[in-house]
Amino acid sequence: MLAVDNINVFYGAIHALKGVSLDVKEGEIVTLIGANGAGKSTILKTLSGLLKPTSGSIQFLGDTIHGRPAQQIVKRGLCHCPEGRRVFANMSVEENLELGAYLRKDKEVKSDLEKVYVKFPRLKERQKQLSGTLSGGEQQMLAMGRALMARPKLLLLDEPSMGLAPLLVKEIFSIIKEINESGTTVLLVEQNANMALSIAHRAYVIETGKIVLAGDAKELADSDEIKKAYLGG
Ligand code: ATP
Repeated sequence: MLAVDNINVFYGAIHALKGVSLDVKEGEIVTLIGANGAGKSTILKTLSGLLKPTSGSIQFLGDTIHGRPAQQIVKRGLCHCPEGRRVFANMSVEENLELGAYLRKDKEVKSDLEKVYVKFPRLKERQKQLSGTLSGGEQQMLAMGRALMARPKLLLLDEPSMGLAPLLVKEIFSIIKEINESGTTVLLVEQNANMALSIAHRAYVIETGKIVLAGDAKELADSDEIKKAYLGG
């Protein structure tokens, strides 16, 4: 579904991604793990067209997407749920969700809104509430619901568990699993490597802009190297 081949990305003089290659197959949850500043968010921003690679290629569903404007990439079915949620604070929950469907012209937006409310009953209870007044966990649900309103084929999730209490982290991860089981492929960036590896099929480990390890999520979770560096022993 997604094939990233040898991309290089710079912020001015900073070489943030150094020849990154990875792939995601339809139906998978793939997770990208790595320390702060390793380049995880930079990979997602490059996939969704917010950053342009200086070399290398990105293919999505058979089309070349690198260098295309972000809105064309969303239209093809690749949607980014950014780090820090970025909900529109002065708009209601429902307005935020409707914005997720901004580029859609089909007639199923209303029924998809109901589906999002079934997945996230807490958003339904708060549909008229201003999004800036939601709790961190509710804002995460809203950011995910808004991305689902675009009907993604591939959903990019950047640190969905950030800043959430353990019970809520569990809830968010089980929703990610459900989203995947109902047919959406997921590329998940996480600092919570334990949780990410527990729901993912495959994983990549990134260090200072380079992929240093890749493989089956269960095998990586059992490897001593990963346990020492990312799983707290
Ligand atoms: P975190 O988990 O802390 O978000 P990350 O793995 O997502 O980390 P990135 O945000 O992708 O890391 O950053 C990769 C590198 O690029 C870091 O060294 C960071 O300082 C640098 N970087 C990121 N954004 C910019 C920017 N806008 N300008 C300059 N450097 C940047």
